[in-house]
Amino acid sequence: MPYEVVIGLEVHAQLLTHSKMFCGCGTTFGLPANTQTCPVCLGMPGTLPVINQKAVEMAIRAGLALNCAIRTGNRFARKNYFYPDLPKGYQISQYEAPICENGWVEVGGNGAAKRIHIRRAHLEEDAGKNIHEGGNGSSRVDLNRAGTPLLEIVTEPDMRSADEVVAYLKMLRDILMYLEVCDGNMEQGSLRCEPNLSLRPVGQKAFGTKVELKNINSFKFVKDALEYEIKRQTRVLSEGGKIHQETRLWNVERGETATMRSKEEAHDYRYFPEPDLLPLSISEDWIEELRKTVPELPAARQQRFVSEYGLPEYDAGVLTTSKGLADYFENCMKLFDQPKTVSNWVMGELLRELNHSGTSVDRSPVSPERLVSLLKLVDNGTISLKVAREIFPDVYASGKSPEQIVQEKGLTQVSDEGALERIIDEVIAKNPAQVAQYRGGKQAVFGFFVGQVMKESGGKANPGKVNELLKRKLAG
Ligand code: ADP
Ligand code: ZN
Ligand code: MG
Repeated sequence: MPYEVVIGLEVHAQLLTHSKMFCGCGTTFGLPANTQTCPVCLGMPGTLPVINQKAVEMAIRAGLALNCAIRTGNRFARKNYFYPDLPKGYQISQYEAPICENGWVEVGGNGAAKRIHIRRAHLEEDAGKNIHEGGNGSSRVDLNRAGTPLLEIVTEPDMRSADEVVAYLKMLRDILMYLEVCDGNMEQGSLRCEPNLSLRPVGQKAFGTKVELKNINSFKFVKDALEYEIKRQTRVLSEGGKIHQETRLWNVERGETATMRSKEEAHDYRYFPEPDLLPLSISEDWIEELRKTVPELPAARQQRFVSEYGLPEYDAGVLTTSKGLADYFENCMKLFDQPKTVSNWVMGELLRELNHSGTSVDRSPVSPERLVSLLKLVDNGTISLKVAREIFPDVYASGKSPEQIVQEKGLTQVSDEGALERIIDEVIAKNPAQVAQYRGGKQAVFGFFVGQVMKESGGKANPGKVNELLKRKLAG
């Protein structure tokens, strides 16, 4: 029996605030264990939480970008459970009154757009981390992360394949990064994704029993884990078995999911209103003020790159994956009005060097001004395109201007007809057999002559001029 895949996603996005959700401790990643803690986030008796305004602001901006309604009357709730990394014995979260509700994200443009509905996005605090390695048989706890603000973003079960999940997750990540509310780093856990997956016989309305997947920290693992789980559930169901509602962990080494625990129900958490925090009311004015700070988002920017600069969809998609890259491109556009040329260089040479050295575009040693000055050297015929490509790694690594490198290496293109004619005459004299072939009608030998002239000139001959002069001379 054929089955339909049904997937809904819970994503925890760590908000880029400088301090924690309910205390003044810092949020820097990777500091020595337990150095970013205070009585509040250590859960000492008698301490009281204070809401971080910046976190609320970021949640509202994210909600607006995700087309959500923003709730003006907010309440926080306690989610109770016991775990060593949770010193208070409860997590402050939102339950009945999440800050954002009923939004959507569109994925897969180009005529195949689909809306993934956002059920809710709520604010909560993160837990600490248990460390099982290096403790001589005992486990230790690092509470630096305890109390870090999170936005948990929950979709409706709208996705129907692993690819759709990856597309949604990429779009969500891009949007959060454009807003500068999350750094999007899946490996470091600033963006954690927990897919819920079930199957149902094609044509059936009711959803099947779902399984929640955890421990997925890259796009590749999202796809791998979901595909594994789809196969596993298909096998269980077609053998007449039942799916048990549970949480399963993705095991990278084994490439499979395994039971972690049976899934708790909401009532197991004994949610109740947080008595230490007053209800949080958000004014319409504040929401409207924040709406103005939502930048042009990736999908809209991609469409504008197509309509305004005439770029192919593909280029526009690559250039708008990060705000930094899109800004870089548009800064070039202000200085040099050849969109496709700039796009080729940014997607090709520049991204190659940036990826190679693991540098983000915001820190690119080649500024838009530098790149454009190189492109202008090609445009005005000072150097050939080939030379420009060859010296780019040098421009990138040396910090020197393209002009200086061209001069130091004597790479100025030869366009002078006298000099070129001399080379061409020599090449023609040296290759009488090919000359005869060409004159006998074998057009293909022309390329051979161009190659020889370019070689003799050390790659510096102006190809346009070479073509023109060669044609004339070979016509004899
Ligand atoms: P729980 O109470 O177990 O947390 P929720 O109803 O709150 O379940 O949903 C959690 C996530 O699981 C949501 O993203 C939702 O879209 C998704 N989900 C709910 N039911 C199913 C299902 N039968 N199959 C796949 N995903 C589901
Ligand atoms: Zn603290
Ligand atoms: Mg739930």
